[in-house]
Amino acid sequence: MNDQKSPRTRLKRIAIYCGSATPADPRYIDLAREVGAELARWGITIVYGGGRLGLMGAVADAALAEGGEVIGVIPEALVKAEAAHRGLTDLHIVPDMHSRKALFTSLSDAFLTLPGGVGTMDELWEAISWAQLGYHSKPVGVLNAFGFYDLLIAFNRNMIETGFIRPAHAGIMIARDSLPALIDSMERYQPHRPLIEEMTRPL
Ligand code: AMP
Repeated sequence: MNDQKSPRTRLKRIAIYCGSATPADPRYIDLAREVGAELARWGITIVYGGGRLGLMGAVADAALAEGGEVIGVIPEALVKAEAAHRGLTDLHIVPDMHSRKALFTSLSDAFLTLPGGVGTMDELWEAISWAQLGYHSKPVGVLNAFGFYDLLIAFNRNMIETGFIRPAHAGIMIARDSLPALIDSMERYQPHRPLIEEMTRPL
C-alpha cells in the first residue's frame, strides 16, 4: 500500500467487515494493519465489530496507534465471551446481531470488506441486499487483496449474467485490489435504483 495523500472523500465513517481469525499467512494481518493505519491517517473513523481478535483487532489497534477514532458495535453475548476490545474510542453493546448490523448501517457512510470468513460474508451480503432493497444507498466495497475474493467476484458476475442480480444493481458491489482505488470508486458511487422501483420495470 503506498503512502499517498488522503483521497478527497465525503466518507467520514466507514464500517469495516473482516475476519475474526488470524490466518497462518501473515499477509492478512499485515493488510488489516495497513488499512487501519491508512484510514486513520486519512481522518476516517472506523466502525467495526468491536472484537480484539484476528483481522478485526489488527485494524482497530493500527488505527488507534495512528490516533484514529474506532467505534465498536458488539452483541452482549460476545462481550461476555471476552472478545470485546476495551481500548476503543467508543463501544456500543447491543442485544443481538440484528441490532449490530442495523447500527453499523446507521453509523457509517460506507461499508468496506477485507478478507474474512462466514461472519464477514453475512455482513457483506446483507449490505448488498439492503442496498438493492433501498434500505440504504451507501457504497459497499470489497478489497480484493492477494486475489482473495476472485471467486466471490466471479460468482457475483455469474449472478448478474444469469439474471439473478438486475442490471440496475450490477454495480452495487465495488471490488478493487488496492485501498486508494477502492476508496476512490466508493467515493464516486452513484446510488442505484432500489428494487421496489426496479421490480415495476422489465429486465
Ligand atoms: P468471520 O469472518 O466469520 O471471522 O466473522 C467476522 C465478522 O463477524 C466481523 O466483521 C464481526 O463483525 C463479526 N464477528 C465474528 N466474530 C466476532 C467476535 N469474536 N467478536 C466480534 N465480532 C465478531
